[in-house]
Order: sequence, then structure tokens, then C-alpha cells
Amino acid sequence: MTNMLACSSCGSDKTESIVHRGSYILRCAACGETIVATSFMAMLDSDHQCSAFIDPGPGKRPSPETLVARGPLRQIATAISAAASDGTLIRLISEAKD
Ligand SMILES: [Zn+2]
Repeated sequence: MTNMLACSSCGSDKTESIVHRGSYILRCAACGETIVATSFMAMLDSDHQCSAFIDPGPGKRPSPETLVARGPLRQIATAISAAASDGTLIRLISEAKD
């Protein structure tokens, strides 16, 4: 993991990946400040394994019941977009491959 992306507000380098409508946001896990935002579409051409949850808030761990989708990013993108389209924040968590 790179620590190039430190939060400008509190200096934390712990980040969370969030999808909000069409945007992919890197958020500070300590204070919730947005660090980087890009288009979610730019992220989609990927087989990276992810779990998507309803975001419980900065620094909080999503509970299993709030799982939206799990699998390669390009396959779960539609479910994530649908869940995020009403403004719900979706947390993306990378899953390490075995
Ligand atoms: Zn911060």
C-alpha cells in the first residue's frame, strides 16, 4: 500500500474506498475527509476481487448484512451502480486473492 495519499485535514493515511452515484471516492478513515475523487467508470475494467457494502460511516466496519455484492469488480459494477444511484454511499473493500 502506498502512503502517498495522506489526508490533508488530519494527516492519516488510512483510506476507505467509497462509491457515491457515479463517483469513486477515496476517503480518510479517520475523519471522513475526501482525499481523491474520480469517475467510478474509470475503475470498472478490473477483475479485482471486491466486496461492496452499504457504508456505515468513516472508520466503521460494515456488517455482513449490508453486503451489496461480492466478486470481480467488472461483474459487480452494475449492482454497485444501482445501489449507489439513489445517493447511498457504498464501501468497496478489496479482497486479497488466495
Ligand atoms: Zn483525515
